Amino acid sequence: MITHHPSDFTLARLASGTLGAGPELVVATHLSGCPQCRGRLRSFEAVGGAMLDGAPPNRLSPDAFARALKRLDEADPPAEAQPRVLHPDLPPPLNGYEIGPWRAVGRRFRWRRLTLPESPDANVIMLKVGAGQPLPRHGHSGTEYTQVLTGSFSDSLGRYRAGDCIEMDEEVNHQPVVDQDGECVCLAAVEGRLRLSGWIGRLIQPLIGI
Ligand SMILES: [Zn+2]
Repeated sequence: MITHHPSDFTLARLASGTLGAGPELVVATHLSGCPQCRGRLRSFEAVGGAMLDGAPPNRLSPDAFARALKRLDEADPPAEAQPRVLHPDLPPPLNGYEIGPWRAVGRRFRWRRLTLPESPDANVIMLKVGAGQPLPRHGHSGTEYTQVLTGSFSDSLGRYRAGDCIEMDEEVNHQPVVDQDGECVCLAAVEGRLRLSGWIGRLIQPLIGI
Protein backbone atom coordinates (compact mmCIF):
# COMPACT_ATOMS: atom_id res chain seq x y z
CA MET A 1 0.00 0.00 0.00
CA ILE A 2 1.74 3.16 -1.25
CA THR A 3 0.52 6.31 0.46
CA HIS A 4 3.29 8.83 -0.27
CA HIS A 5 4.11 9.81 -3.84
CA PRO A 6 6.36 12.31 -5.61
CA SER A 7 4.66 15.68 -6.11
CA ASP A 8 3.04 16.59 -9.41
CA PHE A 9 5.71 19.23 -9.80
CA THR A 10 8.43 16.59 -9.51
CA LEU A 11 6.69 14.32 -12.04
CA ALA A 12 6.34 17.26 -14.42
CA ARG A 13 10.03 18.02 -14.04
CA LEU A 14 10.86 14.37 -14.70
CA ALA A 15 8.67 14.44 -17.80
CA SER A 16 10.44 17.54 -19.07
CA GLY A 17 13.96 16.38 -18.24
CA THR A 18 14.68 19.11 -15.69
CA LEU A 19 14.97 16.89 -12.62
CA GLY A 20 18.53 16.20 -11.49
CA ALA A 21 20.06 12.79 -12.20
CA GLY A 22 20.08 11.67 -8.56
CA PRO A 23 16.45 12.57 -7.80
CA GLU A 24 15.50 11.16 -11.21
CA LEU A 25 16.85 7.76 -10.20
CA VAL A 26 15.03 7.86 -6.86
CA VAL A 27 11.75 8.81 -8.53
CA ALA A 28 12.25 6.17 -11.25
CA THR A 29 12.64 3.62 -8.47
CA HIS A 30 9.31 4.77 -7.05
CA LEU A 31 7.67 4.62 -10.49
CA SER A 32 8.77 1.01 -10.98
CA GLY A 33 6.41 0.05 -8.15
CA CYS A 34 3.67 2.67 -8.55
CA PRO A 35 1.25 2.39 -11.51
CA GLN A 36 -0.56 5.50 -10.27
CA CYS A 37 2.51 7.70 -10.69
CA ARG A 38 3.42 6.08 -14.03
CA GLY A 39 0.00 7.13 -15.28
CA ARG A 40 0.46 10.67 -14.03
CA LEU A 41 3.91 10.86 -15.61
CA ARG A 42 2.44 9.89 -18.97
CA SER A 43 -0.21 12.59 -18.65
CA PHE A 44 2.49 15.18 -17.99
CA GLU A 45 4.48 13.92 -20.92
CA ALA A 46 1.36 14.21 -23.09
CA VAL A 47 1.15 17.92 -22.44
CA GLY A 48 4.82 18.29 -23.29
CA GLY A 49 5.89 19.78 -20.01
CA ALA A 50 3.66 22.79 -20.57
CA MET A 51 2.76 22.78 -16.88
CA LEU A 52 6.22 24.03 -16.04
CA ASP A 53 5.86 27.71 -15.40
CA GLY A 54 7.92 29.78 -17.78
CA ALA A 55 9.87 26.93 -19.30
CA PRO A 56 10.23 27.68 -23.01
CA PRO A 57 9.49 24.67 -25.21
CA ASN A 58 12.98 24.58 -26.64
CA ARG A 59 14.40 23.86 -23.19
CA LEU A 60 12.41 20.69 -22.78
CA SER A 61 14.15 17.41 -23.35
CA PRO A 62 12.01 15.28 -25.67
CA ASP A 63 13.78 12.09 -24.72
CA ALA A 64 13.30 12.45 -20.96
CA PHE A 65 10.21 10.28 -20.92
CA ALA A 66 11.87 7.68 -23.10
CA ARG A 67 14.81 7.58 -20.71
CA ALA A 68 12.53 7.21 -17.70
CA LEU A 69 10.69 4.35 -19.38
CA LYS A 70 13.98 2.74 -20.31
CA ARG A 71 14.89 2.64 -16.65
CA LEU A 72 11.61 0.90 -15.93
CA ASP A 73 12.55 -1.73 -18.52
CA GLU A 74 15.98 -2.36 -17.05
CA ALA A 75 14.98 -5.93 -16.22
CA ASP A 76 15.16 -6.75 -19.93
CA PRO A 77 18.55 -5.57 -21.18
CA PRO A 78 19.25 -5.93 -24.88
CA ALA A 79 21.28 -8.99 -25.78
CA GLU A 80 24.21 -6.95 -27.06
CA ALA A 81 24.45 -4.83 -23.91
CA GLN A 82 27.66 -4.54 -21.95
CA PRO A 83 27.93 -6.81 -18.93
CA ARG A 84 25.83 -5.07 -16.35
CA VAL A 85 25.76 -4.94 -12.61
CA LEU A 86 22.53 -6.63 -11.58
CA HIS A 87 20.89 -6.24 -8.20
CA PRO A 88 18.19 -8.92 -8.11
CA ASP A 89 17.17 -7.93 -4.59
CA LEU A 90 16.61 -4.28 -5.52
CA PRO A 91 14.06 -2.50 -7.75
CA PRO A 92 14.87 -2.89 -11.49
CA PRO A 93 15.79 0.79 -12.10
CA LEU A 94 18.88 0.29 -9.90
CA ASN A 95 20.27 -2.43 -12.16
CA GLY A 96 23.33 -1.28 -14.05
CA TYR A 97 24.60 1.04 -11.32
CA GLU A 98 27.66 0.36 -9.27
CA ILE A 99 26.76 0.29 -5.58
CA GLY A 100 29.60 0.51 -3.11
CA PRO A 101 29.97 -1.68 -0.03
CA TRP A 102 28.03 -0.99 3.13
CA ARG A 103 29.96 1.24 5.49
CA ALA A 104 29.17 1.52 9.15
CA VAL A 105 28.89 4.83 10.93
CA GLY A 106 28.97 4.05 14.60
CA ARG A 107 26.48 1.37 15.58
CA ARG A 108 23.44 3.28 14.47
CA PHE A 109 23.42 3.09 10.71
CA ARG A 110 25.16 2.02 7.55
CA TRP A 111 25.30 3.59 4.13
CA ARG A 112 26.49 2.79 0.63
CA ARG A 113 26.90 5.00 -2.36
CA LEU A 114 25.51 4.61 -5.87
CA THR A 115 27.63 5.75 -8.78
CA LEU A 116 25.85 7.22 -11.78
CA PRO A 117 28.26 7.01 -14.73
CA GLU A 118 26.35 9.70 -16.60
CA SER A 119 26.39 12.04 -13.59
CA PRO A 120 29.41 11.30 -11.38
CA ASP A 121 28.63 14.28 -9.17
CA ALA A 122 25.16 13.07 -8.27
CA ASN A 123 24.78 12.18 -4.62
CA VAL A 124 22.70 9.04 -4.31
CA ILE A 125 23.08 6.96 -1.20
CA MET A 126 21.40 3.98 0.35
CA LEU A 127 20.89 4.13 4.10
CA LYS A 128 20.23 1.26 6.47
CA VAL A 129 19.06 2.26 9.91
CA GLY A 130 18.23 -0.09 12.78
CA ALA A 131 14.82 -0.48 14.41
CA GLY A 132 13.91 2.42 16.66
CA GLN A 133 16.88 4.54 15.56
CA PRO A 134 16.66 8.09 14.25
CA LEU A 135 17.62 8.77 10.64
CA PRO A 136 20.70 11.00 10.41
CA ARG A 137 19.75 14.58 11.12
CA HIS A 138 20.63 16.90 8.29
CA GLY A 139 19.75 20.10 6.55
CA HIS A 140 18.83 20.39 2.92
CA SER A 141 20.19 22.87 0.45
CA GLY A 142 17.64 21.54 -2.00
CA THR A 143 14.73 19.15 -2.03
CA GLU A 144 15.64 15.71 -0.76
CA TYR A 145 13.99 12.64 -2.25
CA THR A 146 13.77 9.45 -0.22
CA GLN A 147 12.35 6.15 -1.42
CA VAL A 148 11.67 3.51 1.22
CA LEU A 149 12.97 0.15 -0.03
CA THR A 150 12.30 -2.01 3.03
CA GLY A 151 11.00 -1.36 6.52
CA SER A 152 9.37 1.86 7.62
CA PHE A 153 9.97 5.07 9.51
CA SER A 154 7.83 7.82 10.97
CA ASP A 155 8.02 11.51 11.70
CA SER A 156 5.58 14.09 13.01
CA LEU A 157 3.81 14.13 9.64
CA GLY A 158 3.19 10.45 9.15
CA ARG A 159 4.47 6.93 8.58
CA TYR A 160 6.45 5.92 5.52
CA ARG A 161 6.53 2.31 4.35
CA ALA A 162 8.26 0.34 1.60
CA GLY A 163 7.25 1.82 -1.76
CA ASP A 164 6.63 5.30 -0.40
CA CYS A 165 8.50 8.30 -1.78
CA ILE A 166 9.03 11.36 0.40
CA GLU A 167 10.07 14.81 -0.67
CA MET A 168 11.52 16.99 2.04
CA ASP A 169 12.42 20.57 1.41
CA GLU A 170 14.60 22.87 3.46
CA GLU A 171 11.72 24.26 5.45
CA VAL A 172 10.80 20.87 6.84
CA ASN A 173 12.29 20.48 10.29
CA HIS A 174 11.75 16.87 11.09
CA GLN A 175 13.38 14.00 12.88
CA PRO A 176 12.41 10.72 11.24
CA VAL A 177 12.74 7.62 13.42
CA VAL A 178 12.74 4.04 12.15
CA ASP A 179 9.79 2.06 13.43
CA GLN A 180 10.33 -0.56 16.10
CA ASP A 181 9.41 -3.58 13.99
CA GLY A 182 12.63 -3.80 11.97
CA GLU A 183 15.46 -2.03 10.20
CA CYS A 184 14.74 0.34 7.34
CA VAL A 185 16.58 0.70 4.04
CA CYS A 186 16.07 3.86 2.00
CA LEU A 187 17.39 5.28 -1.25
CA ALA A 188 18.03 9.01 -1.00
CA ALA A 189 19.20 11.80 -3.26
CA VAL A 190 19.25 15.54 -2.95
CA GLU A 191 19.34 18.33 -5.45
CA GLY A 192 22.23 20.52 -4.54
CA ARG A 193 24.40 19.88 -1.56
CA LEU A 194 23.41 17.73 1.37
CA ARG A 195 24.51 19.31 4.61
CA LEU A 196 24.76 16.79 7.38
CA SER A 197 24.95 18.08 10.90
CA GLY A 198 25.52 16.59 14.31
CA TRP A 199 28.04 13.91 15.15
CA ILE A 200 26.78 11.54 12.46
CA GLY A 201 27.11 14.28 9.90
CA ARG A 202 30.64 15.12 10.94
CA LEU A 203 31.55 11.46 10.59
CA ILE A 204 29.85 10.73 7.32
CA GLN A 205 30.38 13.94 5.38
CA PRO A 206 34.10 13.41 4.68
CA LEU A 207 33.41 9.77 3.84
CA ILE A 208 30.74 10.58 1.30
CA GLY A 209 32.79 13.42 -0.07
CA ILE A 210 30.00 15.95 -0.24
ZN1 LIG B 1 3.42 6.91 -6.67
